[in-house]
Amino acid sequence: MTRLAVNDDELVTCVACGLCLPHCPTYRVTGDESASPRGRIAAMRAVHAGTAPLDAEFSRYMAECVQCRACEAACPSSVAFGHLMEGARETLAVETSAVPRWQRLGYALLGHHRVLVGLSRLLAVAQRARLVPKRLGVPRVPLRASPLHATGDDVWLFTGCVMDAWQRDVHAAVIRVLGAAGVGVALPDPRRAPCCGALHVHAGLHDRAQAFARRVIAAFPGDAAILVDSAGCGAALQDYGRLLGTDDARAFSRRVVDVHQWLADRLDRLPAVAAAPVPAAVAVHDPCHLRHVQKTHLPVRAILGRYVPVVDLDDDGLCCGAGGAYAALQPELATAVRDRKLDAIARTGAPVVASANPGCTWFLAAAGVDIRHPLEIVDAALFGPSRRP
Ligand code: SF4
Ligand code: SF4
Repeated sequence: MTRLAVNDDELVTCVACGLCLPHCPTYRVTGDESASPRGRIAAMRAVHAGTAPLDAEFSRYMAECVQCRACEAACPSSVAFGHLMEGARETLAVETSAVPRWQRLGYALLGHHRVLVGLSRLLAVAQRARLVPKRLGVPRVPLRASPLHATGDDVWLFTGCVMDAWQRDVHAAVIRVLGAAGVGVALPDPRRAPCCGALHVHAGLHDRAQAFARRVIAAFPGDAAILVDSAGCGAALQDYGRLLGTDDARAFSRRVVDVHQWLADRLDRLPAVAAAPVPAAVAVHDPCHLRHVQKTHLPVRAILGRYVPVVDLDDDGLCCGAGGAYAALQPELATAVRDRKLDAIARTGAPVVASANPGCTWFLAAAGVDIRHPLEIVDAALFGPSRRP
């Protein structure tokens, strides 16, 4: 009998009411109970109680979850679904071959920033030579990422792994916008803080995620706020207290703030009007880890709305299907989930979409959406389109 690495109290909290089902993207596209939060919790309980095996079917039920945590936000019983799913995946990663060696190698690579940047350059060259099929949906990687420069020590900016290698222009835009608010930004050594470990947590690689957390904490000395411009990274950093269970980790997590929330609390520091032409309207796509986990999606609207008309999607914040590595590991389900998001975007009629998470940006851009980070749009409004990539 296998006990899952979950908290027994959290596992028994679900009363099977089903109120979360309409909020679950995989249930919405399949209609299968096994692809719903309630079904997944029932499967966890059966394995945990020893009445069902830890087999391929259970592994599939868990793997098909996007880990968007929309169910958690909708649950009247406050079921901690994210913790349960992470615990189930941790057991699968330890006890089975659910995370094959090639995936573990890819996750390990995220801890070696220079190698990641070097491989990204090779990928960029291969893309220019048309050696990377478009159907793979790999975003266009820059040939050369311009160096970032610290501008002060008022706040830290977390730069991360793939985002720093592929979307460093977003970090540059964020630093300029913070500069416009009179805020000096300190930057970590990317070799010391190479990755937040979110993908490792989601895959169940608990020990590896803890190792990343310890490295990241050591790379941000002092007590200045640590601003994050990626929703997934921000949620992971804010969970270090639970991940490590130490006072240091809890103190670190309290310093982590989503950059939009931090700026929205100081909105009057930003220029009142745009200095350059802006899009006719911007539709806001909320990354799940901003809306359902950090619950800080509204500040994006407050900042964008200062410069450009903002339009909301009418899909109650349904996931886009990107889900970290989910789009690569579950392409059919991810595409079906994305189709609903594309319909919602089309209904807005807005020419530009904003999203504060790199995974969402790449996955929606691969379907032809003109999508940018919210602070890239603000940067262009303040400093002109030449600043945009
Ligand atoms: S997770 Fe919450 S909303 Fe969903 S079935 Fe269980 S108690 Fe109900
Ligand atoms: S985390 Fe998202 S995909 Fe997984 S069960 Fe909850 S709502 Fe469904």
